[in-house]
Amino acid sequence: MGKVTGFLEFERTDRKYAPVEERLRNYNEFVIPLPESDLKQQAARCMNCGIPFCHTGCPVNNQIPDWNDLVYLDDWKTASANLHSTNNFPEFTGRVCPAPCEEACTLNLEDTPVTIKTIECAIVDKAFENGWVKPDVPAKKTGRKVAVVGSGPAGLAAAEQLARAGHDVHVFEKFAKAGGLLRYGIPDFKLEKHLIDRRVSLMESEGVTFHYGAHVGVTVKAKELLDGFDAVVLAGGAEKPRDLPIPGRELDGIHFAMDFLPQQNRRVGKEAFDATDILATGKKVVVIGGGDTGSDCIGTSARQGATAIVQLEILPMPPEKADKLTTWPNWPLKLRTSSSHHEGASREFSVLTEKFSGENGKVKTLHCVRVDDRMKPIPGSQFEIEADLVLLAMGFVHPVKEGMLAELGVALDPRGNVKADTEAYRTSIDKVFAAGDMRRGQSLVVWAIREGRQAARAVDEFLMGVSALPR
Ligand SMILES: Cc1cc2nc3c(=O)[nH]c(=O)nc-3n(C[C@H](O)[C@H](O)[C@H](O)COP(=O)(O)OP(=O)(O)OC[C@H]3O[C@@H](n4cnc5c(N)ncnc54)[C@H](O)[C@@H]3O)c2cc1C
Ligand code: SF4
Repeated sequence: MGKVTGFLEFERTDRKYAPVEERLRNYNEFVIPLPESDLKQQAARCMNCGIPFCHTGCPVNNQIPDWNDLVYLDDWKTASANLHSTNNFPEFTGRVCPAPCEEACTLNLEDTPVTIKTIECAIVDKAFENGWVKPDVPAKKTGRKVAVVGSGPAGLAAAEQLARAGHDVHVFEKFAKAGGLLRYGIPDFKLEKHLIDRRVSLMESEGVTFHYGAHVGVTVKAKELLDGFDAVVLAGGAEKPRDLPIPGRELDGIHFAMDFLPQQNRRVGKEAFDATDILATGKKVVVIGGGDTGSDCIGTSARQGATAIVQLEILPMPPEKADKLTTWPNWPLKLRTSSSHHEGASREFSVLTEKFSGENGKVKTLHCVRVDDRMKPIPGSQFEIEADLVLLAMGFVHPVKEGMLAELGVALDPRGNVKADTEAYRTSIDKVFAAGDMRRGQSLVVWAIREGRQAARAVDEFLMGVSALPR
């Protein structure tokens, strides 16, 4: 612990955002890093708790008090080595993680957790600036071949760990570039994509081969992977969106969020796509769904120049503050207001959309009703909202079953995800493993990284009998 009295001396300070009118002009990241002197003070606030509750909050078990101490002592290089020992991609989590570690931090009992995510991001950004992040090329190759399907955070983490263990790793990705939802779901204003490119080239130097435009179960037979590789890791995400099958759903102008968001990411990345443009420019937009994906639709619509944005959520508005005594150190239910909400959207809770209506085949109106806490419509509370564009952001139900999963005939769990436990990560098919959203269902980047790392260890053990990869 660098400074015993740090938490008494220094107030919590965190990164600020560029002003709304400035950040809406482009799709760049807009979080302003803290100066180094502030970062050291923030790190000094860490109490090095006897029981570091931040660890229990962090799915990759980042050794948070250790690197807080190293930052306070100005040893950024060792801090980076420590951080990378548990997390392959801290530059992603340092930007997009909802930071369950901060919710679990002991200082959060007083609403002033250590700024863990900001410190994490600063460590890895500094490490790249100083050239400390180098490819970790294995001294010896094992001669074993592993196929990884999907290049989201789970597939990337699994591939990197397996390559470092000396295996010959091939990643099969149906899209033109790597990253999964990091690249095509999360907007550039939250995560600029050159950060993914930088990691991918490091992984290529570590010996990982990427095959793009390789849609397993469609353009590449799953059987080819079974025949050609000693193990296969399924990390294809949970891509089946939840639909809203109500009258009028077929009208033009009603789209899944994941038909809308990837188009903008591709425009920014100068990647061609062969679908009709879905744009919010000059439109009244309604986003149905109150989560992260909904927020990303708001931020993207605002940048495209929507004239009005309304977000609807069927659940009641959560309390503004968490009830710490009943929830801490666990993830609390509380109202979460994202940077996108500040960019000009109104939010409505406890609202059910009963039907859409339109003119000339185009959506014009949402017919809504307010619901009680049990989601039962309240009689007489019907109202209408005008809309030219409706974005459905109600989450994802399970992986796409057609194609690869059907061809493999792999067993699914009751929720429709690929069935595999978190010890062996093995599916019902010999030498086939599963990790990330494809196994656990729609989740978070940090959980995908954890699962990719753990599945890699399981595969390494399966191939070699023992594994030196971290659990
Ligand atoms: C819009 C949006 C915003 C989000 N924002 C956040 C956030 O801010 N913070 C956060 O922590 N989480 C966020 N999430 C969730 C997070 O992105 C996911 O939990 C995470 O990316 C899952 O990682 P994954 O590797 O399991 O799957 P994915 O990221 O979905 O990657 C799966 C990859 O597999 C490929 N694939 C699928 N099937 C095949 C096949 N048959 N052949 C070849 N390739 C295939 C896909 O093309 C894709 O590249 C967000 C999700 C969405 C949709
Ligand atoms: S819980 Fe908070 S104060 Fe305690 S060790 Fe972790 S980061 Fe430091």
